[in-house]
Amino acid sequence: MNDKSKMQVAMYYNNRDVRLEELPVPTIGSGELLIRTRASGICGSDLMEWYRIKKAPLVLGHEITGEVAEVGDGIKDFKVGDRVFSSHHVPCGKCRYCRAGHQSVCDLLRTTHFDPGGFAEYVRIPKINVELGTLRIPDGMTFDEGSFIEPLACVVRAQRFSHVTAGQAVLVVGSGISGLLHIQLARTRGAERIIATDISEFRLKAASQFGADATIHGAEDVPTRVRELNDGRPADLVVVCTGAMPAAQQAIKSVDRGGTLLFFAPTAAGVDVPIPLFDYWRDEIAVITSYAGSGEDLKESLDLIRDHRVRVAEMVTHRLSLGDAGLGFQLTASGQNSIKVILDPLIASRCRSNNLS
Ligand SMILES: [Zn+2]
Ligand SMILES: [Zn+2]
Repeated sequence: MNDKSKMQVAMYYNNRDVRLEELPVPTIGSGELLIRTRASGICGSDLMEWYRIKKAPLVLGHEITGEVAEVGDGIKDFKVGDRVFSSHHVPCGKCRYCRAGHQSVCDLLRTTHFDPGGFAEYVRIPKINVELGTLRIPDGMTFDEGSFIEPLACVVRAQRFSHVTAGQAVLVVGSGISGLLHIQLARTRGAERIIATDISEFRLKAASQFGADATIHGAEDVPTRVRELNDGRPADLVVVCTGAMPAAQQAIKSVDRGGTLLFFAPTAAGVDVPIPLFDYWRDEIAVITSYAGSGEDLKESLDLIRDHRVRVAEMVTHRLSLGDAGLGFQLTASGQNSIKVILDPLIASRCRSNNLS
């Protein structure tokens, strides 16, 4: 691009309409950073159209790594050229919610974001995000790997809330990217038996590759199959990683006494999920949720990736240019032949895919 004051962005209108547009390169103020984006992951939540469309058109993208291109006045911890990860949402650490460990419901967290968003050549990182949510990525970690710090942090938090312990049987319902991260993390936490479901054969194969002991197609009688595969018992922990109602219903019937049902993904707002409360009460089954990740989750996630305790590089099936963002959204939505799609603004509009085999 010739005009140095302009940059390319992928502008989201809806799941089938993402356009390459130009915006001014953001101007930074004191305490802020300008990041040149090097890897920007498409997240399943970017495709929750009912949630995103209210604010469209907008530039999405919250799983980013890049190089520091400019530093604002007063910045001491970062310099031009540093390789960094930055978090779009940061909690204050001081309010009653943060102090209670619920950083992701903090008012500050819900108002913080990038300018304009991660699907852009450059991103302005506001002062508060620089101070509370920006980490230098280790030398051995690629930009692509670093772009998993945010999604894995959400999984770290969810499994911390659900007290995954050694010897448990874990059922992961929905084997998209978050399901696959749950499978791997549960394994590092010592889960003894991990069973995964999906309605896509491609994803079921991926679930096996990333560590599931057994897989069940979503069209089968999942609660019965789980018992058959788990010595007659339902699972100790059931993690719901899809917003599909049939999957939620299968999950509800697959939790053992004293177990935990974790809704990692929600159904659409306004869609109620009926729970058989008497059975859940008598069986002391906990129903929990988790949303986003906080600072400690991000640091733990970075360590897990750095130490290859969770393998993320192999999850990248596609690296696309900003101009191919629409294709990236389609690939992520269909889930038929893709796991993680990463947008890289340095790629000109051509597509490179490396298929899982
Ligand atoms: Zn995400
Ligand atoms: Zn707070």
